Amino acid sequence: MPKSTDIIIIGGGIIGAATGYYLSRAGYRVQLIEKGYLCAGSTGRCIGGIRQQFTSEGSIKLMLESVRHFSDMKEELGIDVHWHPGGYLFLAHSPEKQEAFLANIAVQQGFGLKDVRWVDAYQAGQIAPGLNIDGLLGGSYCPSDGQAYPFAVVNGYAEKIKSLGGIVNTFTEVTAILQSGGRVQGVKTVAGAEYQADIVINAAGPWAREVGLMAGIEVPVEPERHEALITEGVDYLNIPMLVDYRADGGYFQQFRHNGQFIGCYSPIPNVPGHSTASSYEFLQEMPKRMLKLVPALGPVKVLRQWSGSYENTPDGNPILDRSPLDGFYVIAGMCGHGFMLGPAIGRMAADFIKNGAKEPPVAEFALERDFSSQEAMK
Ligand SMILES: Cc1cc2nc3c(=O)[nH]c(=O)nc-3n(C[C@H](O)[C@H](O)[C@H](O)COP(=O)(O)OP(=O)(O)OC[C@H]3O[C@@H](n4cnc5c(N)ncnc54)[C@H](O)[C@@H]3O)c2cc1C
Repeated sequence: MPKSTDIIIIGGGIIGAATGYYLSRAGYRVQLIEKGYLCAGSTGRCIGGIRQQFTSEGSIKLMLESVRHFSDMKEELGIDVHWHPGGYLFLAHSPEKQEAFLANIAVQQGFGLKDVRWVDAYQAGQIAPGLNIDGLLGGSYCPSDGQAYPFAVVNGYAEKIKSLGGIVNTFTEVTAILQSGGRVQGVKTVAGAEYQADIVINAAGPWAREVGLMAGIEVPVEPERHEALITEGVDYLNIPMLVDYRADGGYFQQFRHNGQFIGCYSPIPNVPGHSTASSYEFLQEMPKRMLKLVPALGPVKVLRQWSGSYENTPDGNPILDRSPLDGFYVIAGMCGHGFMLGPAIGRMAADFIKNGAKEPPVAEFALERDFSSQEAMK
Protein backbone atom coordinates (compact mmCIF):
# COMPACT_ATOMS: atom_id res chain seq x y z
CA MET A 1 0.00 0.00 0.00
CA PRO A 2 1.91 3.10 -1.15
CA LYS A 3 1.93 6.19 1.01
CA SER A 4 0.87 8.96 -1.35
CA THR A 5 0.24 11.77 1.12
CA ASP A 6 1.14 12.76 4.68
CA ILE A 7 -2.40 13.53 5.78
CA ILE A 8 -5.83 12.30 4.72
CA ILE A 9 -8.83 14.50 5.49
CA ILE A 10 -12.30 12.95 5.33
CA GLY A 11 -14.91 15.57 4.40
CA GLY A 12 -15.00 18.20 1.66
CA GLY A 13 -16.93 20.87 3.55
CA ILE A 14 -15.55 24.09 4.97
CA ILE A 15 -13.79 22.38 7.88
CA GLY A 16 -11.97 19.77 5.80
CA ALA A 17 -11.10 22.26 3.06
CA ALA A 18 -9.86 25.02 5.39
CA THR A 19 -7.83 22.57 7.47
CA GLY A 20 -6.40 21.05 4.30
CA TYR A 21 -5.38 24.47 3.02
CA TYR A 22 -3.55 25.48 6.19
CA LEU A 23 -1.84 22.08 6.43
CA SER A 24 -0.76 22.35 2.78
CA ARG A 25 0.61 25.80 3.46
CA ALA A 26 2.56 24.32 6.38
CA GLY A 27 4.25 21.94 3.96
CA TYR A 28 2.20 18.76 4.35
CA ARG A 29 0.99 16.80 1.34
CA VAL A 30 -2.77 16.52 1.87
CA GLN A 31 -5.41 14.25 0.38
CA LEU A 32 -8.96 15.54 0.83
CA ILE A 33 -11.54 12.78 0.39
CA GLU A 34 -15.22 13.63 -0.09
CA LYS A 35 -18.00 11.11 -0.65
CA GLY A 36 -20.00 13.49 -2.84
CA TYR A 37 -19.00 16.78 -4.44
CA LEU A 38 -17.32 19.61 -2.55
CA CYS A 39 -19.95 21.27 -0.33
CA ALA A 40 -22.36 18.31 -0.65
CA GLY A 41 -22.92 18.33 3.11
CA SER A 42 -23.93 21.17 5.40
CA THR A 43 -21.59 23.76 3.92
CA GLY A 44 -23.43 23.92 0.59
CA ARG A 45 -26.72 24.30 2.46
CA CYS A 46 -25.79 27.09 4.83
CA ILE A 47 -26.91 30.68 4.39
CA GLY A 48 -23.44 32.21 4.43
CA GLY A 49 -23.70 34.34 7.57
CA ILE A 50 -20.54 35.39 9.42
CA ARG A 51 -20.68 37.07 12.82
CA GLN A 52 -18.31 37.96 15.61
CA GLN A 53 -21.07 38.63 18.13
CA PHE A 54 -20.49 35.60 20.37
CA THR A 55 -20.47 35.46 24.14
CA SER A 56 -17.18 33.90 25.24
CA GLU A 57 -13.55 34.93 24.86
CA GLY A 58 -12.62 31.88 22.80
CA SER A 59 -15.44 32.18 20.28
CA ILE A 60 -15.11 35.98 19.91
CA LYS A 61 -11.38 35.72 19.25
CA LEU A 62 -11.83 32.87 16.78
CA MET A 63 -14.41 34.90 14.90
CA LEU A 64 -12.28 38.05 14.89
CA GLU A 65 -9.63 35.92 13.21
CA SER A 66 -12.09 34.31 10.78
CA VAL A 67 -13.35 37.71 9.65
CA ARG A 68 -9.76 38.77 8.96
CA HIS A 69 -9.36 35.66 6.79
CA PHE A 70 -12.65 36.28 4.94
CA SER A 71 -11.64 39.89 4.22
CA ASP A 72 -8.28 38.75 2.77
CA MET A 73 -9.62 35.73 0.91
CA LYS A 74 -9.97 37.29 -2.51
CA GLU A 75 -6.25 38.00 -2.58
CA GLU A 76 -5.20 34.91 -0.65
CA LEU A 77 -7.18 32.32 -2.62
CA GLY A 78 -7.40 34.25 -5.88
CA ILE A 79 -11.18 33.83 -6.04
CA ASP A 80 -14.01 36.25 -5.28
CA VAL A 81 -15.81 34.71 -2.29
CA HIS A 82 -18.32 37.59 -2.20
CA TRP A 83 -17.20 38.66 1.26
CA HIS A 84 -19.33 41.64 2.26
CA PRO A 85 -19.34 43.20 5.73
CA GLY A 86 -23.06 43.97 5.70
CA GLY A 87 -23.41 43.67 9.48
CA TYR A 88 -25.61 41.67 11.87
CA LEU A 89 -28.44 43.24 13.89
CA PHE A 90 -29.75 41.16 16.81
CA LEU A 91 -33.22 42.41 17.73
CA ALA A 92 -34.43 42.88 21.31
CA HIS A 93 -38.19 42.90 21.83
CA SER A 94 -38.07 42.40 25.61
CA PRO A 95 -36.19 44.02 28.50
CA GLU A 96 -34.59 40.63 29.25
CA LYS A 97 -33.15 40.38 25.73
CA GLN A 98 -31.97 44.00 25.93
CA GLU A 99 -30.19 43.29 29.20
CA ALA A 100 -28.59 40.15 27.79
CA PHE A 101 -27.42 41.97 24.64
CA LEU A 102 -25.97 44.85 26.67
CA ALA A 103 -24.02 42.37 28.77
CA ASN A 104 -22.82 40.56 25.63
CA ILE A 105 -21.72 43.84 24.04
CA ALA A 106 -19.55 44.64 27.06
CA VAL A 107 -17.91 41.20 26.84
CA GLN A 108 -17.43 41.47 23.07
CA GLN A 109 -15.88 44.92 23.27
CA GLY A 110 -13.64 43.73 26.08
CA PHE A 111 -12.23 41.00 23.83
CA GLY A 112 -11.54 43.32 20.91
CA LEU A 113 -14.78 43.55 18.92
CA LYS A 114 -14.67 47.33 18.96
CA ASP A 115 -17.45 48.21 16.52
CA VAL A 116 -20.30 46.31 18.18
CA ARG A 117 -22.84 48.63 19.82
CA TRP A 118 -26.34 48.93 21.20
CA VAL A 119 -28.77 50.83 18.96
CA ASP A 120 -32.25 52.00 19.94
CA ALA A 121 -35.33 51.15 17.88
CA TYR A 122 -35.14 54.34 15.81
CA GLN A 123 -31.47 53.77 14.99
CA ALA A 124 -32.23 50.12 14.15
CA GLY A 125 -34.79 51.36 11.64
CA GLN A 126 -32.17 53.63 10.08
CA ILE A 127 -29.64 50.80 9.86
CA ALA A 128 -32.19 48.38 8.38
CA PRO A 129 -34.45 50.37 6.06
CA GLY A 130 -38.02 49.05 6.20
CA LEU A 131 -37.57 47.27 9.53
CA ASN A 132 -40.80 47.06 11.52
CA ILE A 133 -39.91 48.71 14.84
CA ASP A 134 -43.27 48.11 16.57
CA GLY A 135 -42.47 46.65 19.97
CA LEU A 136 -38.74 46.81 19.28
CA LEU A 137 -36.57 48.09 22.13
CA GLY A 138 -33.38 48.14 20.08
CA GLY A 139 -30.64 45.79 19.07
CA SER A 140 -27.05 44.73 19.13
CA TYR A 141 -25.39 45.86 15.91
CA CYS A 142 -21.99 45.01 14.52
CA PRO A 143 -21.25 46.46 11.07
CA SER A 144 -18.13 44.34 10.51
CA ASP A 145 -20.09 41.06 10.64
CA GLY A 146 -20.96 39.88 7.16
CA GLN A 147 -21.56 37.28 4.51
CA ALA A 148 -19.68 35.17 1.97
CA TYR A 149 -20.37 32.50 -0.64
CA PRO A 150 -19.67 28.98 0.72
CA PHE A 151 -19.07 27.20 -2.61
CA ALA A 152 -16.48 29.80 -3.63
CA VAL A 153 -14.68 29.58 -0.29
CA VAL A 154 -14.46 25.78 -0.33
CA ASN A 155 -13.47 25.64 -3.98
CA GLY A 156 -10.84 28.31 -3.34
CA TYR A 157 -9.31 26.23 -0.55
CA ALA A 158 -9.50 23.03 -2.64
CA GLU A 159 -7.71 24.64 -5.59
CA LYS A 160 -4.98 25.85 -3.25
CA ILE A 161 -4.58 22.35 -1.77
CA LYS A 162 -4.03 21.06 -5.31
CA SER A 163 -1.66 23.83 -6.31
CA LEU A 164 0.39 23.12 -3.17
CA GLY A 165 0.84 19.49 -4.22
CA GLY A 166 -2.20 17.89 -2.56
CA ILE A 167 -5.00 15.73 -3.96
CA VAL A 168 -8.77 16.30 -3.87
CA ASN A 169 -10.81 13.12 -4.41
CA THR A 170 -14.53 13.73 -4.79
CA PHE A 171 -17.19 11.01 -5.13
CA THR A 172 -15.00 8.78 -2.97
CA GLU A 173 -16.61 7.43 0.18
CA VAL A 174 -14.41 6.29 3.04
CA THR A 175 -15.77 3.06 4.53
CA ALA A 176 -12.96 2.00 6.87
CA ILE A 177 -10.13 3.51 8.88
CA LEU A 178 -7.01 1.37 8.65
CA GLN A 179 -5.04 0.94 11.86
CA SER A 180 -2.36 -1.22 13.38
CA GLY A 181 -0.83 -1.32 16.85
CA GLY A 182 -2.89 1.62 18.12
CA ARG A 183 -1.84 3.88 15.20
CA VAL A 184 -3.86 4.99 12.24
CA GLN A 185 -2.50 3.72 8.90
CA GLY A 186 -4.89 5.20 6.34
CA VAL A 187 -8.36 4.69 4.91
CA LYS A 188 -10.25 2.31 2.66
CA THR A 189 -12.88 3.53 0.22
CA VAL A 190 -16.15 2.03 -0.96
CA ALA A 191 -14.43 1.05 -4.22
CA GLY A 192 -11.89 -0.97 -2.23
CA ALA A 193 -8.96 1.42 -2.73
CA GLU A 194 -6.61 1.83 0.21
CA TYR A 195 -4.70 5.04 0.91
CA GLN A 196 -2.00 5.23 3.51
CA ALA A 197 -1.13 8.24 5.68
CA ASP A 198 0.31 8.84 9.13
CA ILE A 199 -2.47 11.26 10.01
CA VAL A 200 -6.19 10.93 9.24
CA ILE A 201 -8.64 13.71 10.09
CA ASN A 202 -12.34 13.19 10.63
CA ALA A 203 -13.93 16.38 9.24
CA ALA A 204 -17.16 14.64 8.26
CA GLY A 205 -19.49 17.24 9.81
CA PRO A 206 -22.92 15.68 10.47
CA TRP A 207 -21.42 12.22 9.75
CA ALA A 208 -18.54 12.63 12.21
CA ARG A 209 -20.05 10.01 14.53
CA GLU A 210 -20.26 7.40 11.75
CA VAL A 211 -16.68 8.10 10.60
CA GLY A 212 -15.46 8.01 14.20
CA LEU A 213 -17.02 4.58 14.69
CA MET A 214 -15.00 3.28 11.71
CA ALA A 215 -11.97 3.94 13.90
CA GLY A 216 -13.64 2.65 17.06
CA ILE A 217 -13.86 6.20 18.41
CA GLU A 218 -17.05 7.67 19.89
CA VAL A 219 -17.60 11.17 18.47
CA PRO A 220 -20.68 12.77 20.06
CA VAL A 221 -22.03 14.69 17.05
CA GLU A 222 -25.73 14.49 16.20
CA PRO A 223 -27.30 15.93 13.05
CA GLU A 224 -30.37 18.13 13.36
CA ARG A 225 -32.39 19.32 10.40
CA HIS A 226 -32.52 23.03 9.57
CA GLU A 227 -34.48 24.38 6.64
CA ALA A 228 -33.76 27.45 4.54
CA LEU A 229 -35.17 29.39 1.64
CA ILE A 230 -34.01 31.95 -0.89
CA THR A 231 -35.94 34.61 -2.79
CA GLU A 232 -35.56 36.15 -6.19
CA GLY A 233 -33.01 38.95 -6.39
CA VAL A 234 -34.14 42.55 -5.93
CA ASP A 235 -32.37 45.88 -5.51
CA TYR A 236 -29.93 45.79 -2.62
CA LEU A 237 -31.70 47.36 0.38
CA ASN A 238 -28.63 47.48 2.62
CA ILE A 239 -30.35 45.51 5.39
CA PRO A 240 -27.89 43.67 7.66
CA MET A 241 -28.51 40.08 8.77
CA LEU A 242 -31.55 40.39 11.04
CA VAL A 243 -31.68 37.96 13.94
CA ASP A 244 -34.93 37.60 15.88
CA TYR A 245 -34.58 35.02 18.66
CA ARG A 246 -38.29 34.97 19.61
CA ALA A 247 -40.04 31.60 19.32
CA ASP A 248 -41.68 32.77 16.09
CA GLY A 249 -38.54 34.59 14.90
CA GLY A 250 -35.81 33.72 12.42
CA TYR A 251 -32.73 35.12 10.74
CA PHE A 252 -32.25 36.33 7.21
CA GLN A 253 -30.02 38.54 5.12
CA GLN A 254 -29.78 39.89 1.60
CA PHE A 255 -26.83 38.95 -0.59
CA ARG A 256 -24.94 42.02 -1.70
CA HIS A 257 -23.86 40.44 -5.00
CA ASN A 258 -27.27 39.43 -6.37
CA GLY A 259 -29.97 40.91 -4.11
CA GLN A 260 -31.47 37.59 -3.03
CA PHE A 261 -32.81 37.20 0.52
CA ILE A 262 -31.80 33.99 2.28
CA GLY A 263 -32.94 32.84 5.69
CA CYS A 264 -33.97 30.20 8.17
CA TYR A 265 -35.35 29.67 11.67
CA SER A 266 -34.63 27.14 14.39
CA PRO A 267 -37.48 24.63 14.49
CA ILE A 268 -39.34 24.01 17.74
CA PRO A 269 -39.17 21.16 18.62
CA ASN A 270 -35.88 20.33 16.97
CA VAL A 271 -35.73 17.66 14.25
CA PRO A 272 -32.94 15.14 14.94
CA GLY A 273 -31.51 12.88 12.21
CA HIS A 274 -29.89 13.02 8.78
CA SER A 275 -33.08 13.84 6.86
CA THR A 276 -32.74 16.79 4.51
CA ALA A 277 -36.38 16.80 3.47
CA SER A 278 -38.17 20.11 2.99
CA SER A 279 -41.52 20.88 4.62
CA TYR A 280 -44.57 22.80 3.49
CA GLU A 281 -44.82 24.20 7.02
CA PHE A 282 -41.46 25.94 6.66
CA LEU A 283 -42.32 27.22 3.18
CA GLN A 284 -45.43 28.88 4.57
CA GLU A 285 -44.00 30.03 7.86
CA MET A 286 -40.63 31.55 6.92
CA PRO A 287 -41.99 34.22 4.54
CA LYS A 288 -44.52 35.24 7.22
CA ARG A 289 -41.72 35.73 9.72
CA MET A 290 -39.70 37.75 7.21
CA LEU A 291 -42.70 39.95 6.39
CA LYS A 292 -43.36 40.53 10.07
CA LEU A 293 -39.89 42.05 10.38
CA VAL A 294 -39.70 43.80 6.99
CA PRO A 295 -43.23 44.29 5.56
CA ALA A 296 -41.84 45.84 2.36
CA LEU A 297 -40.67 42.38 1.28
CA GLY A 298 -44.29 41.50 0.39
CA PRO A 299 -43.81 41.45 -3.41
CA VAL A 300 -40.50 39.54 -3.27
CA LYS A 301 -41.03 35.96 -4.48
CA VAL A 302 -39.61 32.86 -2.86
CA LEU A 303 -37.48 31.01 -5.38
CA ARG A 304 -36.46 27.79 -3.65
CA GLN A 305 -36.29 25.93 -0.32
CA TRP A 306 -34.01 23.16 0.97
CA SER A 307 -32.67 21.80 4.22
CA GLY A 308 -29.42 20.62 5.73
CA SER A 309 -27.99 19.50 9.03
CA TYR A 310 -26.60 21.33 11.99
CA GLU A 311 -23.91 19.10 13.50
CA ASN A 312 -24.48 19.40 17.22
CA THR A 313 -22.43 18.31 20.20
CA PRO A 314 -24.13 17.83 23.56
CA ASP A 315 -22.71 21.09 24.98
CA GLY A 316 -22.86 23.25 21.86
CA ASN A 317 -19.08 23.59 21.45
CA PRO A 318 -16.95 22.18 18.60
CA ILE A 319 -14.53 19.26 18.82
CA LEU A 320 -10.93 19.92 17.74
CA ASP A 321 -8.66 17.28 19.20
CA ARG A 322 -6.56 14.18 18.69
CA SER A 323 -8.23 10.87 19.59
CA PRO A 324 -7.18 7.75 21.52
CA LEU A 325 -6.18 6.23 18.15
CA ASP A 326 -2.74 7.68 17.49
CA GLY A 327 -2.74 9.93 14.40
CA PHE A 328 -6.55 10.09 14.12
CA TYR A 329 -7.92 13.60 14.73
CA VAL A 330 -11.48 14.90 15.02
CA ILE A 331 -12.46 18.38 13.83
CA ALA A 332 -16.24 18.42 13.77
CA GLY A 333 -19.40 19.39 15.60
CA MET A 334 -19.46 23.10 14.73
CA CYS A 335 -23.07 23.30 15.99
CA GLY A 336 -24.42 25.40 13.14
CA HIS A 337 -21.53 27.90 13.09
CA GLY A 338 -19.11 25.95 10.92
CA PHE A 339 -19.00 28.17 7.87
CA MET A 340 -18.04 31.27 9.83
CA LEU A 341 -15.68 29.41 12.15
CA GLY A 342 -14.08 27.46 9.32
CA PRO A 343 -11.08 29.63 8.44
CA ALA A 344 -9.97 30.14 12.05
CA ILE A 345 -10.69 26.52 13.02
CA GLY A 346 -8.74 25.32 9.98
CA ARG A 347 -5.75 27.46 10.91
CA MET A 348 -5.94 26.36 14.55
CA ALA A 349 -6.22 22.68 13.60
CA ALA A 350 -3.22 22.90 11.28
CA ASP A 351 -1.09 24.56 13.99
CA PHE A 352 -2.19 21.92 16.51
CA ILE A 353 -1.24 19.05 14.21
CA LYS A 354 2.03 20.68 13.18
CA ASN A 355 3.07 21.36 16.77
CA GLY A 356 2.24 17.81 17.79
CA ALA A 357 0.72 19.08 21.04
CA LYS A 358 -0.91 16.51 23.30
CA GLU A 359 -3.64 18.78 24.62
CA PRO A 360 -6.16 20.51 22.33
CA PRO A 361 -5.57 24.25 21.73
CA VAL A 362 -8.87 25.10 23.46
CA ALA A 363 -9.77 22.96 26.47
CA GLU A 364 -13.49 23.36 25.73
CA PHE A 365 -12.94 21.64 22.36
CA ALA A 366 -11.54 18.39 23.83
CA LEU A 367 -12.96 15.15 22.45
CA GLU A 368 -13.14 13.51 25.86
CA ARG A 369 -14.63 16.29 27.98
CA ASP A 370 -17.51 16.49 30.37
CA PHE A 371 -20.19 17.47 27.87
CA SER A 372 -22.69 18.22 30.61
CA SER A 373 -20.80 21.01 32.33
CA GLN A 374 -19.98 23.62 29.72
CA GLU A 375 -21.64 26.72 28.45
CA ALA A 376 -22.48 26.53 24.73
CA MET A 377 -20.75 28.76 22.19
CA LYS A 378 -23.41 31.37 21.45
C1 LIG B 1 -29.88 25.77 6.76
C2 LIG B 1 -28.52 26.00 7.36
C3 LIG B 1 -28.04 27.30 7.52
C4 LIG B 1 -26.77 27.53 8.07
N1 LIG B 1 -26.30 28.81 8.13
C5 LIG B 1 -25.05 29.03 8.58
C6 LIG B 1 -24.51 30.35 8.56
O1 LIG B 1 -25.16 31.31 8.16
N2 LIG B 1 -23.24 30.51 9.02
C7 LIG B 1 -22.49 29.47 9.48
O2 LIG B 1 -21.35 29.67 9.91
N3 LIG B 1 -22.98 28.20 9.49
C8 LIG B 1 -24.23 27.96 9.05
N4 LIG B 1 -24.72 26.69 9.04
C9 LIG B 1 -23.91 25.61 9.62
C10 LIG B 1 -22.81 25.18 8.65
O3 LIG B 1 -23.37 24.84 7.42
C11 LIG B 1 -22.06 23.98 9.23
O4 LIG B 1 -21.69 24.22 10.57
C12 LIG B 1 -20.78 23.71 8.42
O5 LIG B 1 -21.07 23.67 7.05
C13 LIG B 1 -20.12 22.40 8.86
O6 LIG B 1 -19.04 22.19 8.00
P1 LIG B 1 -18.30 20.78 7.98
O7 LIG B 1 -17.20 20.89 7.00
O8 LIG B 1 -17.99 20.36 9.37
O9 LIG B 1 -19.43 19.76 7.49
P2 LIG B 1 -19.95 19.47 6.00
O10 LIG B 1 -20.04 20.68 5.18
O11 LIG B 1 -21.19 18.64 6.14
O12 LIG B 1 -18.79 18.58 5.38
C14 LIG B 1 -18.61 17.23 5.78
C15 LIG B 1 -18.43 16.44 4.51
O13 LIG B 1 -18.04 15.10 4.84
C16 LIG B 1 -18.50 14.26 3.81
N5 LIG B 1 -18.47 12.89 4.30
C17 LIG B 1 -19.22 12.36 5.30
N6 LIG B 1 -18.92 11.07 5.46
C18 LIG B 1 -17.95 10.77 4.57
C19 LIG B 1 -17.25 9.57 4.23
N7 LIG B 1 -17.50 8.42 4.88
N8 LIG B 1 -16.33 9.61 3.25
C20 LIG B 1 -16.07 10.77 2.58
N9 LIG B 1 -16.72 11.92 2.84
C21 LIG B 1 -17.65 11.93 3.82
C22 LIG B 1 -19.88 14.79 3.52
O14 LIG B 1 -20.36 14.41 2.25
C23 LIG B 1 -19.71 16.29 3.68
O15 LIG B 1 -19.54 16.96 2.44
C24 LIG B 1 -25.98 26.42 8.49
C25 LIG B 1 -26.46 25.12 8.32
C26 LIG B 1 -27.70 24.90 7.75
C27 LIG B 1 -28.18 23.49 7.55
